[in-house]
Amino acid sequence: RFPDRPRRVSILGATGSIGRSTAALLRERPDLYDVQAIVGGDRAAELAALALALGAKRAVIANPDRLAELSGLLAGSDIEVEAGREAVVAAAALPADWIMSAITGAAGLEPTMAALRQGSFVALANKESIVCAGDLMIKAAHAHGSLILPVDSEHNAIFQCLGSRGESDGAADMGVEKLILTASGGPFRQLSLAEMAHVRPSDALAHPVWSMGAKISIDSATMMNKGFEIIEAHHLFGLPPARIEVLVHPQSVIHSMVGFVDGSHLAQLGSPDMRIPIASTLGWPERLTTGAPRLDLAEIGDLTFEPPDPIRFPALRLARSALEAGGTAPALLNAANEVAVEAFLQGAIGFLDIARICERVLDDIESTRLMDLAAVALADQQGRALAKQLIG
Ligand code: NAD
Ligand code: MG
Repeated sequence: RFPDRPRRVSILGATGSIGRSTAALLRERPDLYDVQAIVGGDRAAELAALALALGAKRAVIANPDRLAELSGLLAGSDIEVEAGREAVVAAAALPADWIMSAITGAAGLEPTMAALRQGSFVALANKESIVCAGDLMIKAAHAHGSLILPVDSEHNAIFQCLGSRGESDGAADMGVEKLILTASGGPFRQLSLAEMAHVRPSDALAHPVWSMGAKISIDSATMMNKGFEIIEAHHLFGLPPARIEVLVHPQSVIHSMVGFVDGSHLAQLGSPDMRIPIASTLGWPERLTTGAPRLDLAEIGDLTFEPPDPIRFPALRLARSALEAGGTAPALLNAANEVAVEAFLQGAIGFLDIARICERVLDDIESTRLMDLAAVALADQQGRALAKQLIG
């Protein structure tokens, strides 16, 4: 499965938290990789610096207003420079052996689908895409012979526990009884609802364990992140929602577990450093060395567990009900959540309003069948429009 030449790799969302960790791994062994395209949203200076450091063939910036800046910074290099939505999707479709999908939000869906269609390894960090269009992505992967390698630490843990048989679906046939997604519980694990009503964006951005982009940090605080991960696990591993549990584990040492029909449980452990799951997808099915901190269990001492609280964290229930409803319901939920999280970060709504807005959008808009990407795009538009109206 490994090419003899350096592996051709691309990074979508290169300037983000996951993208930068990915770039750091590539730079540890430049002889192993041949960087095709790197894609960023609108930070031209960071994208240019990464493109030079990685020796990328192409640098693409989503925001066309930054094209001149990016071109200026890369003038005199051989690096092709492009901008705009279509250029992002085209970069994702360039032939590559391994593509990191790490754009935030539903904006990552189309590029991820383009990556899946060329039959390579797609390292999936962009969970919103599989939340919105899970069935379509799994179908595309099968149709084009590509393999989704989960980067999300929980799903990566489960993928590792299931062994490298080469499938990321079909857990049902492997004697799996249930999947147990661990959750840190986020920064508000111990706050009352009354206290949560007054938290500020800066409180929510201060995750106790992981350092991540703003959007996923807020999703961790509401636990919508864990709700989305239930949906993600359902699509990746093919188990019904009732057999996917959530367990709060504040130390985030166990990244998730698999329970088998004989009563065995397998878990994957590690320090909370995304270089570990990223490296596992980059090297898969082999192991790569990383500089990630090693786990010192004697130092940590206690691993604790508690059930999630559905009253203080209604997002878990909303995600489950969207998954049960099926069709475009998860895309509606995701759209409402993206708008609400942005509004919370801007100070326009309170923390508890995020779940309220999501619930209204799920209640008020009827979901349809998930026929194609156009159905997802329509649900996305409708969900955003109603969420904005509720905020305004
Ligand atoms: P981030 O905000 O740090 O980075 C997002 C990246 O996407 C940036 O490079 C940004 O420029 C780019 N981007 C944003 N909008 C774009 C657009 N329209 N077109 C092209 N590029 C665009 O986010 P992150 O924390 O790196 O997370 C990325 C994805 O990985 C998210 O879906 C997140 O849920 C998932 N994830 C992240 C972590 C983590 O530890 N950070 C863990 C698990 C999953
Ligand atoms: Mg996760």
